[in-house]
Amino acid sequence: MLRLYNTLGRKLEIFKPLKKTSVGLYTCGPTVYNYAHIGNLRTYVFEDILERVLKADGYRVKRVMNITDVGHLTSDADEGEDKLEKGAKRENKSVLEIAKFYTEAFLSDIRALNIAVPKILAPATQFIPDQVALVEQLMKKGVAYETSTAVYFDVTKFKAYGKLAGQSLKDKMTAARKEVVTDPAKRNPADFALWFKRVGKFANHMLHWPSPWGEGFPGWHVECSAIGKHFLGQPFDIHTGGVDHIGTHHTNEIAQSQAAYGVPLARYWMHGEFLLVERGKMAKSAGNFYTLADIKARGIPPLAFRYLALGAHYRSRLNFTWESLEAAQNGLQNLYNKIHQLSWDLKELRGIDLGGIVNAKPYENLFNRAINNDLNTPMAMSIMQTLLGVNGISIPEKLTLIKKFDRVLGLDLDKSMKLVPSKIKKIPKEVRELAKKREEYRRSKQFMQADALRKRIGELGYTVEDTPQGFSLCPLHQK
Ligand SMILES: [Zn+2]
Repeated sequence: MLRLYNTLGRKLEIFKPLKKTSVGLYTCGPTVYNYAHIGNLRTYVFEDILERVLKADGYRVKRVMNITDVGHLTSDADEGEDKLEKGAKRENKSVLEIAKFYTEAFLSDIRALNIAVPKILAPATQFIPDQVALVEQLMKKGVAYETSTAVYFDVTKFKAYGKLAGQSLKDKMTAARKEVVTDPAKRNPADFALWFKRVGKFANHMLHWPSPWGEGFPGWHVECSAIGKHFLGQPFDIHTGGVDHIGTHHTNEIAQSQAAYGVPLARYWMHGEFLLVERGKMAKSAGNFYTLADIKARGIPPLAFRYLALGAHYRSRLNFTWESLEAAQNGLQNLYNKIHQLSWDLKELRGIDLGGIVNAKPYENLFNRAINNDLNTPMAMSIMQTLLGVNGISIPEKLTLIKKFDRVLGLDLDKSMKLVPSKIKKIPKEVRELAKKREEYRRSKQFMQADALRKRIGELGYTVEDTPQGFSLCPLHQK
């Protein structure tokens, strides 16, 4: 039984998909005018875990992600310039070149983090007719209106506006009054743009298409509503994004989709929390705006970031520091070493396994319960660690379970099960001698000396573990 937290009702709900065996999942994608920052990447890790858990539960998942390559203004509330055009100016390139470059960069980032690339990636510019159709439908229903510069959604025509954010329409109107309104013909300050005309500040907008309201381009919110419906129908099962999408982007998606077609857009709305950097908000101006390239530049493997992200529940804020990332790197390396050690022991023992007297099944059940309890990855990871440390479970059983767990966690754990035959045979004499000496120290309780030798053995590229049968040496897993 899978339970998920639905932002719409602010509570955990038992997940019941519309169809028995398949799930429609829409995840808001990147605006491809710059590199994704690690806060964005955290959200994509959460969505990847969601997809993996659904699959582990036996569902086929139809996952759609949009790629925003037009219409996302520098302020989500429709102010400022188009981010793509801003990026093009900054780099003296065309909008298409910018979109192509940063789409590739995004895909390479998510691959490095073992995030499955969604089968359906939908650039907004390739779905203009769907977006125009949605705006036309809203005009027909009398909930949208045209001014000399744009087509807007009239928020007063949708009673439940702001429900997702827990904000009443009245509050939203009061808040929006403080925002800059550049179009005096807007009926309400909170009304949002569905279509921008190629006039005024957008007279030279590079990307534009014909529409019943003249040449122009769609607003950002329209693309997700239109693309979601195009591929998944309406309603579909799950819509996700970051918590920063709740107040405006997703609120607007819900309003326009439901007002146009009379049924909700999605049934479950899920949101990943913020990643803080050194307890503050990530900002270019503060110099703490990190990308995956910054992590790699410090020699830290990308999967250490995934490990760090999984160590916190997706609905709690995660405070990123370089120390915490280094700790995650060590944690992951220790995990690889332990698994490598087990695989090594299995080979050494040649089938003589003293385990099998403790049942592994409860650990599998606990793990499944954790991930199905609103994707509790920190709990799932600690259950895996516990399993590794239990004496009496046979090694093959442990390794089989670890492989299963990793289908959800995606930490490449199976790679550390592979043994390199040449390394197995040739443990240098020096290392074996050190290990023997260490064993003697340990038996005579001279732990400081024993630890110093363990360190020395580590420097030579091996780990030494104590088993009931004596010590066991194993080459360090090279990642
Ligand atoms: Zn979206």
